[in-house]
Amino acid sequence: MCGVFGVHAPGRDVARLAYFGLYALQHRGQESAGIAVSEDGRLTAVRDLGLVPQVFDERTLSGLQGDFAIGHTRYSTTGANAWENAQPLLHHGRARTVAIGHNGNLVNAAQLREAAGKPLGSTSDSEVIAALIADDERPLSQAVAATMRRLEGAATVVGLADGKLFAFRDAFGFRPLVLGKLGDDPVVASESCALDLVGAELDREIRPGELVVAGDDGLEVVQALEPANSGALCIFEFFYLARPDTRLAGVEVHGARVRMGERLAAESPVEADLVLPIPDSGTPAAIGFARASGIPFSEGLIKNRYVGRTFIQPEQGMREQGIRMKFNPLAEVAGKRVVAVDDSIVRGSTTRQIVQMLFDAGAAEVHVRISSPPIVSPCYYGIDFASEDEMIAADSTVDEVRAAIGATSLAYLSLDGLQAATRRPASALCRACLTREYPTRIPADAAKLRFERATARARATP
Ligand code: SF4
Repeated sequence: MCGVFGVHAPGRDVARLAYFGLYALQHRGQESAGIAVSEDGRLTAVRDLGLVPQVFDERTLSGLQGDFAIGHTRYSTTGANAWENAQPLLHHGRARTVAIGHNGNLVNAAQLREAAGKPLGSTSDSEVIAALIADDERPLSQAVAATMRRLEGAATVVGLADGKLFAFRDAFGFRPLVLGKLGDDPVVASESCALDLVGAELDREIRPGELVVAGDDGLEVVQALEPANSGALCIFEFFYLARPDTRLAGVEVHGARVRMGERLAAESPVEADLVLPIPDSGTPAAIGFARASGIPFSEGLIKNRYVGRTFIQPEQGMREQGIRMKFNPLAEVAGKRVVAVDDSIVRGSTTRQIVQMLFDAGAAEVHVRISSPPIVSPCYYGIDFASEDEMIAADSTVDEVRAAIGATSLAYLSLDGLQAATRRPASALCRACLTREYPTRIPADAAKLRFERATARARATP
C-alpha cells in the first residue's frame, strides 16, 4: 500500500503539485512521505517518516525547484518503517543517478538483491529497481524496459533520471497508475483522485507492462512487457484500498462499493431495524445494503477521524477502552436489531470489539455483513494485512467466525457478487487472497523484515 505521483511541468511549482498529489493519496500510506525533483538533470529529494503535512512545510517545498517531480507515500510491505526505507530513494549507479517511488512488492527481490552484487542502502525491495536502472548504460527507456523484464511481482513505479520522468506498471498491473494532463503537461498518479486535486484531466490508465517516459522532447510510450491476460488489478483496491472518488479501470469505486452492498442484501437478507456502516470503508456498501433492503441507514457508530496509525498507547487499565479512541456508538442503537456493514474481516479483533460495543450500547441483535468474501491467504503484491495463521477465516467456517466475533449472524458477499459489482471480468483482476490462486509464483520467504534479518546476519559474520 503506497501512493505514487509524478509530473513534468516546466514553469510550474512541481514540488507543490507533488505535495498536493500526495495529499490526495495519503490513504495509501501514512508511514513516510517524500518528494524528489529534477532540475537540469540534478536530483534533490526530501523524505521522512510521517504524514505528508508533517514531512513538508513551505520552507522544505520552496527548496525543491525543478521541472520534474515525483512523490511517494509509504506503507511498508517489505522492510521496516525506518527513515532509510522512506521514498523516493536515490541511487547512484555506474550509468546514472535514479530517484524512484515504488508501489507493490517484488516476489524475486532476494534474487535481484543478490544479483546486484553490492550492498544497498535500504532494506526495502524498491532500491534494487533503482540500482538496476542506474547501472544499465543503455539509454534511459531501454534501461528501464530491461529492468522491467527482470522484475517479478507487483511494481508500479515512478522515477527520475537523465532529466526525464518515467513511470511503469508490471505486466499484471497489480497496482493502479493513471496518466493525466495538466494543460499539456503529463501527470501520473496511483489514483485519479490525485489528478482531480491538482486540476489535471484523466487521460487514461497506464497499461500493464507499459512504460511512459516524459522529457523536454515529449512523451515516449513503450509497451515494454507483454501484458498478462487482461491484467491482474488487485480486487482489494475495489472493496477497500482505493479512495471512493477514484475511477479504477473506468469504474468509480464508490459506485462499485454501493453495488457490493446491494448484492450483499440480496444474497444475505436479514430482518432488522437499522443498517449502519463500520466507518469509513464500510460506508458505501452500507448505503447499498440499506437501499436494496429498505432498512433505514444510520451512522450508528461515530468515528474519530484524527486517530492516526501511531498513537500513544493507553495505560493498561484503559486498554479495553482502546477501541473507543476510534469509534463510539449513538444512543439510537439501543433496543434495535442492527446490521453492521464492513468491507472485510482480517484478524477479527476489531469486528469483535465493535460487535461488543454495539451490544453494550443496548442493541438487541447485531448482524454483521461483509462486502467481500473471506480473506484466507496473504498478499505478496503490496498489501500487508496479515500472515495466514493470523487470518480468522483462513481455517474457520463462517459460523466459527460468527461465534468468534460474537455476532447474531454473519454473512460475506460471494466472489461472484463481488466480481459483478466491479464490472470487470475475473480475468482482469487478482483475487488471490480470496481464492489462493496466485497469478505468479510466490516467494519462499515473504516475511516483511527478511532483508533486515539478512543484513543483521551479514553484519554478524566476521
Ligand atoms: S493477493 Fe489480494 S490484496 Fe494482493 S494483489 Fe491479489 S487481490 Fe490484491
